[in-house]
Amino acid sequence: MKKRVYIAYTGGTIGMKRVNGRYLPIPGYLQELMAANPAFHHASLPDYTINQYDPLFDSPDMTPSDWSKIARDICDHYHAYDGFIVLHGTDTMAYTASALAFMLKDLAKPVIVTGSQIPLGEIRSDAQDNLVSSLLLASHEFVIPEVGLYFNSRLFRGCRTVKVDADGFDAFASPNYPALAALGTGVEIRERLVRRPSAPSTSDIDLREINVPAVVGAFRLFPGLSPRILENMLQPPLRGLVLETYGSGNGPTGDKEFLRVLREANARGVVIVDCTQCLKGTVDLSKYATGADLAEVGVLSGYDMTPEAALTKLAYLLSISDDVAQIRAWMQEDLRGELSR
Ligand code: ASP
Repeated sequence: MKKRVYIAYTGGTIGMKRVNGRYLPIPGYLQELMAANPAFHHASLPDYTINQYDPLFDSPDMTPSDWSKIARDICDHYHAYDGFIVLHGTDTMAYTASALAFMLKDLAKPVIVTGSQIPLGEIRSDAQDNLVSSLLLASHEFVIPEVGLYFNSRLFRGCRTVKVDADGFDAFASPNYPALAALGTGVEIRERLVRRPSAPSTSDIDLREINVPAVVGAFRLFPGLSPRILENMLQPPLRGLVLETYGSGNGPTGDKEFLRVLREANARGVVIVDCTQCLKGTVDLSKYATGADLAEVGVLSGYDMTPEAALTKLAYLLSISDDVAQIRAWMQEDLRGELSR
């Protein structure tokens, strides 16, 4: 029996067309191109269904409620399909893949987020390979029960990814965790890197949606920062902040105003998580005084989480709990393979 794959088509360059010199998502266009292309009818592909979203998004327009809509869509079809693909724009793909990883707990089936840098309708495009390979991986006999992100011959753990190239086909990286699969002349699945929940959901997922759109934020430190700018950011309704720091998690702690602003926000119950601005490596708040001082005023280590994972994890945890002490503890624990410590 052929496996069945459900494709949630949310938008993105993959199905766009150039209209008056600009790329726009056009409903039905991707399906037309796929119908006319023999690659998408090859006998080795699974059976698949495409659910086109209305509207189709250019992904910078997507919000946390769209992440929840995708998670609900997958849950609604979970029992009827063997695997899931989310076709998505690349701009915010790492955020959506991270958010889905937190919401879709204890997966027993693969969910693969993919898209392309050039539309399927253009002559020199990465769309066909990204979609065909995602279909093969979503229906592979070795099941990868994670939210993955497939791009340019590699499948990454979604909550480890970042977009690293605005132009090239190698647009995504997973700087702190190796790829789960690499496709060359063969399909290499790195089985020992794949995460398996202890109690996988085989029929239904216990979905906990992200429902706190405007209470999390990210703030990137820069030399010469005025603490008042950060103080404004930390005002209500903000409840969680990803503080993007230097190197191994350091900040300008010689500035007592900067420390005061953070200390007061922490005392009000704002959860502040330290992620490094560096692409690779981990936060270690014990290494320098400029890191230890941050820990001292209540800033939490984000270890080697990407800012995308930290922000979506905060939104998820603030949606499922009001217990700030518990949220602080969870932020520093590995929930979905998003951090190593
Ligand atoms: N702007 C597009 C999007 O994120 C870019 C892409 O899909 O590559 O929807």
